[in-house]
Amino acid sequence: MDNIKKQNTYVSEEEKTLDWSEIQTSFKKTFGDEIYNSWLQKISLIKEFNDYLVLGVPTRFFRDWIVSRYLDKILEQVKNYKLSLNRIEFKIIEENKQNQELLKLNEINKVSEIKDSILNYNRLNSNLNFENFIRGKSNDIALSYSKKVCDQLSRYNPLYVCGGVGLGKTHLLNAIGLALQNENNVMYISAERFMYHFIKSIKKNDMVNFKDFFRKSSVFIIDDIQFISGKESLQEEFFHTFNSLMEKGSQIIISSDRTPMKLDRVQDRIKSRLSGGLVVDIDPPDFDLKVKIINKKIEEIQNQFKENIILSQEVVNYIASESKTNIRELIGVLNRVVAFSRVNNKSLNINDCKNILKDVFNQIRVITVDKIQNVVSNYFNIALSEMLSQRRSRPLARPRQIAMYLAKKMTSRSLPEIGRRFANRDHTTVIHAVKTITRLSEQDDEMKKNLSQIRSLLLEQ
Ligand code: ADP
Ligand code: MG
Repeated sequence: MDNIKKQNTYVSEEEKTLDWSEIQTSFKKTFGDEIYNSWLQKISLIKEFNDYLVLGVPTRFFRDWIVSRYLDKILEQVKNYKLSLNRIEFKIIEENKQNQELLKLNEINKVSEIKDSILNYNRLNSNLNFENFIRGKSNDIALSYSKKVCDQLSRYNPLYVCGGVGLGKTHLLNAIGLALQNENNVMYISAERFMYHFIKSIKKNDMVNFKDFFRKSSVFIIDDIQFISGKESLQEEFFHTFNSLMEKGSQIIISSDRTPMKLDRVQDRIKSRLSGGLVVDIDPPDFDLKVKIINKKIEEIQNQFKENIILSQEVVNYIASESKTNIRELIGVLNRVVAFSRVNNKSLNINDCKNILKDVFNQIRVITVDKIQNVVSNYFNIALSEMLSQRRSRPLARPRQIAMYLAKKMTSRSLPEIGRRFANRDHTTVIHAVKTITRLSEQDDEMKKNLSQIRSLLLEQ
């Protein structure tokens, strides 16, 4: 099913696979021969996922060295080839397979394993701190309270930061962790990792260690809590961890892509605990914030590479206004433009920039009517079959109209085609939906917010 539309910014579902040798070449350029030959050349690509890569390295020592020195640059570099990436994991590949098996067995038996791997995977990233988090209208309140939490532990407990993908939640949580880590026992973990350790501990019959480990922190930071949706036993464990931490007065900080009450398939008692402290929002960035972030990033790149990078104000404004979804994408786009300008050794004019952006957007926007229908029905927590049904009750009709509206705005499908995909409706129904949602999106804040969150979800994959 090859439905790539060249003239359009949306491409088919097909995943792009990375060309590792091309990336290696770029490492050589960026890091220089010496570092490349001693370290980077030995890294292999093992597996590619939508948002992360598994890279192979020869030893533990090698991995630690790379992680402590080059990880951020490596990630940045690879992102130039695949914007949706946001982390890298390493796997140690011993040359001798047998050795590897033995190592695995040994590892499984190691009692300290939870601690070990948590420390490896959940290290705070020193680059995501308060100093380089830029304040704007959309994150003002979230930033202020994140700082207040650091000054007055347990005053706002839990602090719950919510906002769409790529808007700076992880950055803020990290910054809090960094600010507090010297004087507190800080535990930072994503909900996904929390589950991973939970399951592993159950399998190994080692729940006692698991519980101890998490409950002894004095600052517990958990990222992307929406991940616990629908996972009953994980919720149970989280609930108890949460309560015992609160009881002993630990500060809890949580992030999520939506407000506590909007979490689907999460127990009510958890939702109410999560809303029991302070809930702060991060909204999509406005133009001003985007320009500030671009300028700051350019400054960082210049310091890093000791090179002068010149982007005209016109180009900066163009990138800021073109990048519609989130800050992660904005930075990805900028990196791409800068990489292009460095490789070709010229400062870019607006047309170069347009060409490059077209390319970048092609890579990241994979939107189909099916996908829109799935994301929208999930978002509103209704069955897809209901959303497509003929029933006209508002809780079904609105999501249906939103899905039609987005299908019109985000895919190249014609009105009749969209109508057909919605259980054979007439194109006039689609027109009506587009008009209604357009009007509501101008008047109604809730609608504005819903649309922006759904767009982010769509662009996330
Ligand atoms: P989220 O966790 O909400 O999906 P992240 O925290 O991962 O988003 O942010 C995405 C990228 O944008 C990161 O590189 C982060 O450093 C950057 N970023 C987000 N907000 C800001 C900000 N206000 N100032 C500087 N960088 C930001
Ligand atoms: Mg995040």
